[in-house]
Amino acid sequence: MNRPESDVRAIVVTDGERILGLGDLGAYGMGIPVGKLALYTALGGIKPHQCLPVVLDVGTNNQTLLDDPVYIGLRQKRATGEMYDAFIDEFMEAVVSRYGQNTLIQFEDFANHNAFRFLAKYREKFCTFNDDIQGTASVAVAGILASLRITNIPLSKNKFLFQGAGEASIGIANLIVAAMEEEGLSQEEARSHIWLVDSKGLIVKNRTEGGVAGHKIPYAKDHPPVKSLEDAVNTVKPTCLIGAAAIGGVFTPSLLKSMASFNEKPIIFALSNPTSKAECTAEDAYINTDGRCVFASGSPFDPVTYKGQTFYSGQGNNSYIFPGVALGVICSGLHHISDNIFLMAAQKLASLVTEDDLRIGRVYPSLKTIQNVSLKIAAYITEHAYAKRLASTYPEPVNKEAFIRSQLYDTHYLHALQQTYKWPNLER
Ligand code: NAD
Repeated sequence: MNRPESDVRAIVVTDGERILGLGDLGAYGMGIPVGKLALYTALGGIKPHQCLPVVLDVGTNNQTLLDDPVYIGLRQKRATGEMYDAFIDEFMEAVVSRYGQNTLIQFEDFANHNAFRFLAKYREKFCTFNDDIQGTASVAVAGILASLRITNIPLSKNKFLFQGAGEASIGIANLIVAAMEEEGLSQEEARSHIWLVDSKGLIVKNRTEGGVAGHKIPYAKDHPPVKSLEDAVNTVKPTCLIGAAAIGGVFTPSLLKSMASFNEKPIIFALSNPTSKAECTAEDAYINTDGRCVFASGSPFDPVTYKGQTFYSGQGNNSYIFPGVALGVICSGLHHISDNIFLMAAQKLASLVTEDDLRIGRVYPSLKTIQNVSLKIAAYITEHAYAKRLASTYPEPVNKEAFIRSQLYDTHYLHALQQTYKWPNLER
């Protein structure tokens, strides 16, 4: 923490244990915080000197790196248990004492077993969120809300089946529940609409193989065990099938055909990355549902022409969400980031999907409009923060969007230098 900048407003931190689908990269995980913060600036207009990327090097269990003579990180197995937890606590407290309690701390690419418990531990005490859980949830729920404008089925009349029960799936499931509660369902009713499959099969109570633990428990159903995904699809008959288990190709042609047999317009989200891990391609999805599905993916796919219609499926990229959320949080001075903030971001993103987008099968706005998306999300969050007396930036701006616009980093070269180094105005 010896970087000379003192006006740090946002930190993206990883411990490098689960970088994308690449696994444990130890100290080489640094590319992720750097890349995410580049998007804070490019898409959210947050000033680069206010962003600090951090890798907490606690060792690595990647033997190839440990054996590599030029590996730059600590040459030891990962610290775990009390020592590891105490180190993360110390980091969180150091951020507050060095940069203040409003400093936004985004957790990124921590392994499953740490991500959920750190979120639960820190969310009420620090200005923090986990993008893999909450950012993913928000972008996926936005895509679902936009899809419902095509299927014309209200959210609480849908049934969801997830392939995978990790950070992405549980995060999305929890946010769908929050959205259904807003529609008037109880939490229990809302959860009854959500089914999950993990590596041991459908998540049901009293499962003999593998049991059901931790964050999956609220979704375990009173139902006999079902082993394969295909059987789960045919048993549950979901309106919406979401893949986030990084098992490429599991949405087979016959499974997709089943979805199309009991849904007029099945919603199919193949969220796993990279492209090789996608549950199916856009082409597979349209062909095997006779062009009737609403499809979105985690990795981009080229447009698909089927029976004379060209579909431009959307990419549920987290960068639709986290730069705008960060901008809103920083500008309004929110102390804590509730799940409601991510539901609001999802609703705002869905509202920015145009009828023209939907006509071509795209449930996200064009990526070209993403800076405007960030601004609109930030303004929406800021309105809410002041209305609910959660903001700490005073005096309260009259026009929130204009205020945020005035805070944005100006990428015009001279302006940028002036903003960063507080140079005098060099222009006449
Ligand atoms: P994770 O490690 O937390 O979860 C993976 C889950 O898959 C675990 O619950 C595991 O039990 C389950 N699983 C493993 N093998 C399985 C099998 N054979 N059948 C069923 N389930 C199985 O990972 P995550 O953060 O949830 O990410 C999962 C995938 O989603 C990754 O490919 C990631 O790139 C992708 N993702 C996409 C987006 C996006 O599109 N915006 C965002 C986040 C993650």
